[in-house]
Amino acid sequence: MIRTRAVPNADGSFSITGTKIFISAGEHDMSDNIIHLVLAKTPDAPDSTKGISMFIVPKVLVNDDGSLGARNGVTCGAIEHKMGINGNATCVLNYDGATGYMIGGENHGLQGMFVMMNAARLGVGVQGLSQAEAAYQNGIAYALERRQGRALSGPSEPEQKADPIFVHPDIRRMLMDARAYTEGMRALSLWTGLQVDLSRNSPDEAERQRADDLLGLITPVLKGYGTDKGYEVATNMQQIWGGHGYVRDNGMDQFVRDARITMIYEGANGVQAMDLVGRKLASKGGRAVQAFFAMVDANCAAAKAEASIAPIAERVEKANGELKAATMWLMQNAMANPDNAGAAAYPYMHLMGIVALGDMWVRTATHCVRALADGSAEAGLGRAFHEAKLVTARYFAERYTPDAGALRRKIEAGAESMMLLGAEAFAA
Ligand SMILES: Cc1cc2nc3c(=O)[nH]c(=O)nc-3n(C[C@H](O)[C@H](O)[C@H](O)COP(=O)(O)OP(=O)(O)OC[C@H]3O[C@@H](n4cnc5c(N)ncnc54)[C@H](O)[C@@H]3O)c2cc1C
Repeated sequence: MIRTRAVPNADGSFSITGTKIFISAGEHDMSDNIIHLVLAKTPDAPDSTKGISMFIVPKVLVNDDGSLGARNGVTCGAIEHKMGINGNATCVLNYDGATGYMIGGENHGLQGMFVMMNAARLGVGVQGLSQAEAAYQNGIAYALERRQGRALSGPSEPEQKADPIFVHPDIRRMLMDARAYTEGMRALSLWTGLQVDLSRNSPDEAERQRADDLLGLITPVLKGYGTDKGYEVATNMQQIWGGHGYVRDNGMDQFVRDARITMIYEGANGVQAMDLVGRKLASKGGRAVQAFFAMVDANCAAAKAEASIAPIAERVEKANGELKAATMWLMQNAMANPDNAGAAAYPYMHLMGIVALGDMWVRTATHCVRALADGSAEAGLGRAFHEAKLVTARYFAERYTPDAGALRRKIEAGAESMMLLGAEAFAA
């Protein structure tokens, strides 16, 4: 529905007129110039997404010798008042016959936008992780310091009037949840980065293609599931701070406010889920998701050979089984009623997120158990580090993977009860 117009000039440039909202860092004085990438429609373009072109529009026009020239016709009309990320001005930008230069060819703007967005989605996934990580470090510090109540199993520090809240299982639940997510998500982010590298640089054509398939599949999951969990962890860490978490002076509210945007921008998470279920699953006959299933199964099979971590691998393998069954259900039920796909998309994205993190924990556990056995743990990050990883892997398997079954049941419930009530029932 883009209304911004791009009218060709005699010199090959374009005159851009229109308004853009929600432009991150759209105006600032931290650099001499700002180069905007702008989507607009040329005069005879088709009235659909097929008629969108992309333009470079500098804030300050650049002379032939590279020096800065006249101010271009793009101005900031307003700055949004937001609940978080206040270090980044979100601008309304007005384009009044601004000079722009087309890139990527006429009517190919959307493809250009996706090049940027795919990278940005991965960046936002990591942003969700980083908010959670910072909140987690503050959560641990407070849990070890704040005294309230006694350990259920008897005082841990009898000489003190109360124990640190760290002794309470419910505090430990939140800390272990955060640990299992942040460490697992860090591994998943690095694994995804590796797929980016392989998809571009592997000398082997088959490996490039497989990496590209897996990257496309996991991008909406890393963004959608990763930021949902990142926000949940940030709010749980605020919870550890009790009333002091709610008081602004202590800063725990900022993690929650800042993390909230990650679920919205670069495509709201509901749209990420639709990208996963509507586009990525069926793409190339399901090649990507089949490669994902096989990869997880292979890692679980390898881990099961190590007796001490076999129960971890079995749980992740079972979650992968739930994901396979949910995928099969979608194949059988989404064609007849597309709302079934829409209703299933969100829980499906979370189900795949659990399996993807589970896969990371299975790999981590396999590595750690071997490093502890062959002595390389001592030479590296130490026994305690590796042993803690194994405990966290077990926690993940015991506390995250059971949700896979529940998510599958939600998917298989279909769309009916979700879609039955019409607008009049909500208006009442
Ligand atoms: C602080 C901030 C900074 C931003 N920075 C930039 C920027 O620099 N550049 C830029 O171009 N944009 C930027 N944006 C825009 C941002 O990417 C969008 O706001 C975001 O993608 C959501 O789009 P929307 O606001 O149009 O919501 P809508 O598309 O109206 O979505 C509203 C709700 O409907 C759901 N929904 C919509 N369509 C579907 C569907 N087909 N199926 C299922 N559910 C659906 C969504 O999931 C969401 O929950 C920014 C936004 C904010 C708030």
